[in-house]
Formats: sequence, structure tokens, C-alpha cells
Amino acid sequence: GRRTVEVTYLPVREHDGRVRGVVVRSHDIHALRQREERLQTMVGELEHKALEQQRFIHIVSHDLREPINTICNFAGLLAEDELIQASPTATRYLDFVVSGGQRMKVLLEDLVNFLQLDRHAVAMTEVDLNRIARDVGDDLQSAIARKGASLDIRPLPSVQGDASLLRILLQNLVANAIKFCPRDRAPVVTIDAIQTDDGGTRLRVKDNGIGIPPEHTERIFEIFTRLHNKQEFPGSGLGLSICRRIADLHGGRIHVRSQPGEGSSFELELPALTTAHPHRSAT
Ligand code: ADP
Repeated sequence: GRRTVEVTYLPVREHDGRVRGVVVRSHDIHALRQREERLQTMVGELEHKALEQQRFIHIVSHDLREPINTICNFAGLLAEDELIQASPTATRYLDFVVSGGQRMKVLLEDLVNFLQLDRHAVAMTEVDLNRIARDVGDDLQSAIARKGASLDIRPLPSVQGDASLLRILLQNLVANAIKFCPRDRAPVVTIDAIQTDDGGTRLRVKDNGIGIPPEHTERIFEIFTRLHNKQEFPGSGLGLSICRRIADLHGGRIHVRSQPGEGSSFELELPALTTAHPHRSAT
């Protein structure tokens, strides 16, 4: 049958430089070529899958956002319209539509953020954690004021990382620390960091909230895992899975230590500056 062969011609010269003859070397590279072709096909399939995933994210983020916004906006208008003489039952149903729509909006945002993480090329730079923590505090000002929370940011080091991803991670942890607190207690949240034995950084977000039972401390990092119903504490169950993915992308790890009823300490361990990868792609 057909074979692929690589042929090399090597001239054999006299000592004055004239060519006296030629050595022909023939090498059967058939198996190698076949492997290359198989690899090429696989790369093509992977590219196709990545494109499909991109389209899927596009549909989720754009095409779904539109109808959800329409439902929320018009249900909200109806609920506020004083000219409409809605019965108490109808008003109650409308409230369900409005709050369901709001929840759907939050879930969609979180889902899109989670899916987009896989396409995020991680840009490693030296990141000042003090700045990130200050920005997160500013962003969460309204939640802090609403819950009467206090946020204590201790002096933090610089680390090797992707600033935008680390900010998302810290924002999720601090938002949770404020949220998962009993109603009759003002949340006290502390962000600090220590150096680990191998020269890495352990960033901690400590709270005085409801805490987590020991049997759930691993599960909560799985996608859509929530320990409470949405009436008690609203949320999508995606925040901590996003945090774990971000920790992985940094070659680090995240876990929680907790005392149920007394509080939790979420800890992100990042490798030492020199061992971090300068560019790590998520794909
Ligand atoms: P969400 O906050 O949207 O519910 P997360 O993935 O951020 O989703 O968290 C998953 C679950 O882990 C939460 O529903 C909650 O039960 C638990 N959890 C997260 N952070 C804390 C915390 N600081 N204190 C107590 N429980 C927490």
C-alpha cells in the first residue's frame, strides 16, 4: 500500500571537493505522519468545541439577559402602577414575579462569569493585595452600611497573580462574610495575610457569622451547592466555585476553617513569587 517515506541525499566528496557519489537515506515515517494527522483532527475538534462553548456563552449572556430584563422591568412597572386596581392576591403574585426575575438576573450574571473563567487568559503581574482589598471594600459599601458591618483590612503583601481575578475572588469572600451572619449580630470581617512555610502567601477572610458544619466544608466549593434556602440567604451557589477555579488558575488552593455558630475563615494559599507561572492560560 501507500507509505510515507522521508528521503535524504548526502553528497560524498573527493578531497578536492568534487562530488563522487551520493548516499541516499530512506526513512519510513508513515506511523509518525498518521499520528500527526490524528493530532491535527483532534485539534480541529477541540477548536470546534471551544467555538461552540463561546456561542453558548454568548446566547446565555445576551439572548437570555434581554427577556429577563423585560420581565423584571414590566412586572416592576405593573406592581408600581397605581391606576391598576390589582387584588391583594394579584399584587402578591406580581411580587413573586419581580423577585424571581431579580434572582434569575443574579444567577445569570454569576453563571456567565463562571463560564467565562475558562476562556480567561491569566495575566500574571505583581499585585498589591492592599489595593484590591480597598477596592472590594468600596464596592461593597452599600452592603456594609445596610448590615452595619465593619471591615478591618490589615497590612497585606504583594503577590504574583491576575489582579482582576483576585479581586473577583476577594469580593465573593467578603460579600459572603457579610451575608452569612445572623440578623441580630453586626458582621465583623477581617482580611489579613501571613507567609507560609514555603514562602507563599495565605490570604484570610475571617467573619463572625453563622459558620459551616464540618461535613459541608468541602461541598460548599462545588457548583450550585447552597446550605440555606433563598428566603434565609439569597444567592446562586456559584461564588465559591468561582473562587476555587481562580485559586486553581493561580496554582494555589482555597479552603475554609469554621466553627458553626461562631464564624468562618476562608483561606487562599498562593505559591511564592518565584514559583508562579508568568502566563497560565485557562484553556
Ligand atoms: P451563594 O453565596 O450564592 O449561596 P457560594 O458558592 O458563595 O454561593 O456559597 C455556597 C454556600 O456556602 C452558601 O450558600 C453558604 O451556605 C455557604 N457559605 C459561603 N460563605 C459562607 C460564610 N462566610 N459563612 C457561612 N456559610 C458560608
